[in-house]
Amino acid sequence: MLEDLKKKVVKCALQAERAGLCRPHTGNFSLRDARTGNICITPTGIARTDLSYHDIVVVNMDGKVLEAETGLRPTSEILMHLAAYSARVDMYGVAHTHSKFATTFAILKKIIPAIVYEITELGCKKGYVPVVDYQRPGTKLLANAIIDSLQMADVILLESHGVVSIGADLQAALLKAEFAEELAEIYYNTLMLNGGREPKHILVDELNAWKYPEEFSIGKNCM
Ligand SMILES: [Zn+2]
Repeated sequence: MLEDLKKKVVKCALQAERAGLCRPHTGNFSLRDARTGNICITPTGIARTDLSYHDIVVVNMDGKVLEAETGLRPTSEILMHLAAYSARVDMYGVAHTHSKFATTFAILKKIIPAIVYEITELGCKKGYVPVVDYQRPGTKLLANAIIDSLQMADVILLESHGVVSIGADLQAALLKAEFAEELAEIYYNTLMLNGGREPKHILVDELNAWKYPEEFSIGKNCM
């Protein structure tokens, strides 16, 4: 069942690895079916490059495995995916990576502030990418810990661990993970060139004030 969704999960998982967001054996991805609420999630115990859509596991929101065609178990970080979906009923895709620059700030337990407008792509209500306190990967404690932060932002950092992003589908979640990694790299470069001093942050009101320029409209500017 859910063959189309499984194929999308494989495509996004490979895309994430090619984009350098995760290495073999790290990172996991899932997509929720809008009709049934069931979740297609990457398995553990297989290299992403060997992954076929038959390997994608289907679970329900209680974590019960409904389908494991090739006998593989869902990722060990499944509880975190389920928590993300329960925290945000408006979201249907979850990407979890250990991408380098974002994880660097996660290790330092340092939020990523609004230094460029790109952050508006990440649904950060308070104008920064938050960091969740450390909990052991794969545990219910970590799953519970992400819930509040996902109300504040669509991308969050996990202390000493990595990144979780959520989206209207998995492609959208992945794009946010890429934006977050780029933002983290820009922030890192800025701190390095600025002697470790904080650069200017863009205030939330300023971020929210952005709108398409009134001076331009199709009727007005299109000949
Ligand atoms: Zn992880």
